[in-house]
Amino acid sequence: MKVELNVNPIESWAKTNHKPLIIAGPCSAETPEQLMSTAKLLKDLGKVDVLRAGIWKPRTRPNAFEGSGEEGLKWLAEVKKELGIQIGTEVANPEHIELALKYGVDVLWVGARTTVSPFAIQEMADAMQGVKDKAVLIKNPTHPELGLWIGAFERFYRAGVRDLAAIHRGFSTIDKSKFRNVPTWSIPIELKRIAPQIPIICDPSHIGGKRDLIFEISQKAMDLGFDGLMIETHIDPDKAWSDADQQVTPERLGEILNDLKIRTQSTTNVDFNDHLEELREKIDNIDRELVETLATRMAVVEKIGEYKRDNNVTTLQVKRWDDIMKNRSELAKKLGINEEFVVDVFKLVHEESIRRQTEIMKAVESKA
Ligand code: PEP
Ligand code: MN
Repeated sequence: MKVELNVNPIESWAKTNHKPLIIAGPCSAETPEQLMSTAKLLKDLGKVDVLRAGIWKPRTRPNAFEGSGEEGLKWLAEVKKELGIQIGTEVANPEHIELALKYGVDVLWVGARTTVSPFAIQEMADAMQGVKDKAVLIKNPTHPELGLWIGAFERFYRAGVRDLAAIHRGFSTIDKSKFRNVPTWSIPIELKRIAPQIPIICDPSHIGGKRDLIFEISQKAMDLGFDGLMIETHIDPDKAWSDADQQVTPERLGEILNDLKIRTQSTTNVDFNDHLEELREKIDNIDRELVETLATRMAVVEKIGEYKRDNNVTTLQVKRWDDIMKNRSELAKKLGINEEFVVDVFKLVHEESIRRQTEIMKAVESKA
């Protein structure tokens, strides 16, 4: 996938601040007192860059608290004025954007339920046309479709927004999981690979859904070199009007941030770099051998394909396939590596073998 977003990482808002960039604050702005008291304690931590608070809440079902609306924006503006802290909120349509800008919101984020809709994203991107000095953060869509996420960046980019960052908040699943939204780290990692210029902020609150999971998810994000964290923080979490289970007190947030190990992408330590270089050479050699072995395997697959064709036998023999899976998975177990991983690798190898054998069959049919 080609992504042409010339977001300059040096100019990018999320990367110019110290690392990690921290966004914290309640899931929702509930009352002026709740917002101000939370914000004061967050400011005292000395590590929070942006105060977050949801003003319009996308609730799964009606009749839940749907946010304080414009009234809440007045409280946010008051906090900004009194504490001198940047403020951020979720926007889901052009009217939200207009109001957020009117009350001086610095950071606008697009929620996961909105990123899934290209119509909604386009309308919002149009509303941002010509708006300068505002950061737009885009949460991943609720389902793990990288293209939709990228598409949202492209729409805002075309509208002239340059201060863009991604928020990884996990993905919906029907499978049983300890997470509220499964992290599926491969998706943000792939985003980082194809668009390294886009900073990525992790939202462990919406991934975990429980406050006990926030530290480990945050540490994992830091280990992967993410640029920041968005953590829901409430003066009295158990009494929160939305997402009570996943919010932490400002005090707990302070502990989490102190305990995090922040690793660097690289180091100038010569011994470390020499040793890493040696290990990487080993990996390069092993990978070459792996590809050579795959090529040897494919040559045998082709022979089998021709042999089956000449004897009028189907490409797929279920029993044989079943035996392969069992045997390779047992071998993985014996060698102490993840069995599921090995099974996944062989599924791919098998798919390619069948594809190649089908080609061989077809070649003869078209000749006949
Ligand atoms: C939120 O940040 O409070 C929120 C609604 O998040 P998400 O879009 O990730 O569900
Ligand atoms: Mn929330």
